[in-house]
Amino acid sequence: MIRSKEELAKMRKAGKVVAEMHEATRAAIRPGVTTRELNEVAAEVLAKRNARSNFLNYHGFPAVICTSPNDMIVHGIPGEYVLEEGDIISIDAGAIVEGYHGDAAYTAPVGEVSATAKRLIEVTERSLWAGIDKLVVGGRLHEVGRAVQEVAEAAGYSVVREYVGHAIGTKMHEDPQVPNYWPGSAGPTLKAGMVYAVEPMVNVGTYDTYVLDDEWGVMTEDGMLSAHFEHTIAVTDEGPEVFTIA
Ligand code: MG
Repeated sequence: MIRSKEELAKMRKAGKVVAEMHEATRAAIRPGVTTRELNEVAAEVLAKRNARSNFLNYHGFPAVICTSPNDMIVHGIPGEYVLEEGDIISIDAGAIVEGYHGDAAYTAPVGEVSATAKRLIEVTERSLWAGIDKLVVGGRLHEVGRAVQEVAEAAGYSVVREYVGHAIGTKMHEDPQVPNYWPGSAGPTLKAGMVYAVEPMVNVGTYDTYVLDDEWGVMTEDGMLSAHFEHTIAVTDEGPEVFTIA
């Protein structure tokens, strides 16, 4: 879908709120903090900015962010989990402003982490930016996934297949999907005004997953670490514009 200038302006605002949720939760991450407390920090930002949550009650999801530690890939429900020194924690946050959505995620270290954890975070973020660079007018959507996959696999890691990015606008998840790997075809041609959420999930081990009994938390099958980075980005005549940045 092609968004008008007015729509893009609203999505820009929603993106800023998400960026603020990232800043606030990042500042609160330390050993001893529960994931429920991180959710409260994010909820305060939404309230302060008069924004609505797109996560809360989404298919019954009970919080405004997802908190996914260590071998949890995505969709973790905030709760009693206490962050420990050496953990990594993935935070996925979203906001609605004037009916338009923003969606973005990051993975952060908790205190000092292993060299592997540090490198996984660095590689996953770099894979996101490699994908974002492909969001140019006249380009093809699936070049995003190809670029993400190249960065992740060059580092010896794998890219999750079962969960992917998406177009975004008046709903959080719109068509088409944005795979984080080359799906075998180039996909739609990119036009100015299209907006996508690109969100690589990168695993140290294999890309296989399973879902917890709570029906939300998505885990790595082999128990190895996973990281997740996401931004909401518009295709513009001047190049990719990342909305979910401060
Ligand atoms: Mg998303």
